[in-house]
Amino acid sequence: MKTLQDQKTKQLYSFDNLLEEVVEMGLCNRCGGCVSFCSADRIGALRMNKEGFPEYLDREKCLECGICYLVCPQTHVLKNEVRETFGWKPPIGLYQDVLSARSTDPEILKVGTDGGVVTSILLYMLEHNIIDGAVVSRKTGLLSRQPIIATTREEIIQAAGSQWSETQHLERMGDEYTTFVSTIPIIRKFKPTNRTKLAVVGTPCQIETIRKMQVLKILPSDLIIFTIGLFCMQSFSFSELMGKKFAKDHIVNLEDIDKVNIKEDFMLKMKSGVTIHVPLEEIETIARPACLCCTDFANDFADISVGGLGSPKGYTTVLIRTIDGKKIYTGALNEGYVESRNSRDLHESLLEKSKQLSLVAEYTLYKIERAEKQLKKMLEKE
Ligand SMILES: Cc1cc2nc3c(=O)[nH]c(=O)nc-3n(C[C@H](O)[C@H](O)[C@H](O)COP(=O)(O)OP(=O)(O)OC[C@H]3O[C@@H](n4cnc5c(N)ncnc54)[C@H](O)[C@@H]3O)c2cc1C
Ligand code: SF4
Ligand code: SF4
Ligand code: SF4
Repeated sequence: MKTLQDQKTKQLYSFDNLLEEVVEMGLCNRCGGCVSFCSADRIGALRMNKEGFPEYLDREKCLECGICYLVCPQTHVLKNEVRETFGWKPPIGLYQDVLSARSTDPEILKVGTDGGVVTSILLYMLEHNIIDGAVVSRKTGLLSRQPIIATTREEIIQAAGSQWSETQHLERMGDEYTTFVSTIPIIRKFKPTNRTKLAVVGTPCQIETIRKMQVLKILPSDLIIFTIGLFCMQSFSFSELMGKKFAKDHIVNLEDIDKVNIKEDFMLKMKSGVTIHVPLEEIETIARPACLCCTDFANDFADISVGGLGSPKGYTTVLIRTIDGKKIYTGALNEGYVESRNSRDLHESLLEKSKQLSLVAEYTLYKIERAEKQLKKMLEKE
């Protein structure tokens, strides 16, 4: 991997470096950042292939500017700059507060993955003209989603949660449906008007790409004024999940699944009311190789990070990181979009916060250790 020193000595990278160090090593997470922000995008140097990996469309058109290499979340260049910019501290990054919260809207509580906090904060921002739209992913099936820029209340609510309502996509279940949604490319395609302001919801790898773009001042990353980062242990393909023994044992019809979620373990809530709990280690066997090498669980560079881990059912754990994160969460709270879960007394509240932080740190350290083992395995194979 190239180091910051290489960058300081003005070594130029090209897509060849990215191919060699990330794609061919099996570390590409298919975020689409390199193709979306390629300087030769308009003349067609790169494309995503059918499997969702980047490749040259026309090698001759590559300008060897290195942007693709720099914005890739799997390379280590710019990591220190991003860390410095966001005052990163080990192991879970900068934060000001941690709490459990939920939406105050019963409609959102019904469709939200956990407490519907993401959806409610986005609605607060949209309805108070803080943003013009939000990069989210709309459900097209149980584990299939399509990235969109939601600009209306209806679109933001449609993107909430992960329950399955459209059965017409059943016959199309296959590799293309994964828990990872490539949301970055849509930002590039967006045609902004003057001073358009966007929020982005994304996994740690997606938010890191955005932060790298912002450090490099690559347009249109200036449009992104707020980021909501999802906790993320791993992504996997749905077809591989269905190949697992537990799925064969428990799921007769895919239509029987009502909701999926991931917290301390992976949960499949069936329409019958039964919830199937699958240990994360089992899901790990079908995780994408790039995910097994990924070290960011708590979305360290987002304005606020969210997950179900550490909160009771129906609540979202919210890690408020930046000054903007604090301002927006307080605004949503004061305007009645979200409510924080109040403990009976201060001592209990502090204890809860400390337990939540320990859990997030524990999962982060697990992920770092897992990545170290995976990288070691890969190097041994070489
Ligand atoms: C791939 C993935 C892995 C996760 N892993 C964990 C985990 O290990 N532990 C944990 O505690 N939490 C995990 N989460 C987060 C958790 O599932 C909830 O999204 C989070 O708690 C917010 O809940 P909510 O009810 O407040 O959000 P909601 O109000 O339901 O809103 C969810 C938002 O997330 C967006 N979204 C959904 N899926 C994706 C996706 N694939 N890519 C980008 N945006 C998406 C939706 O468009 C929506 O805006 C994961 C989420 C994803 C997508
Ligand atoms: S033009 Fe720049 S960003 Fe595009 S492939 Fe070549 S090096 Fe990468
Ligand atoms: S991880 Fe993203 S930016 Fe990096 S090579 Fe893969 S698609 Fe490109
Ligand atoms: S584990 Fe999550 S953040 Fe890491 S590469 Fe996979 S999807 Fe991205």
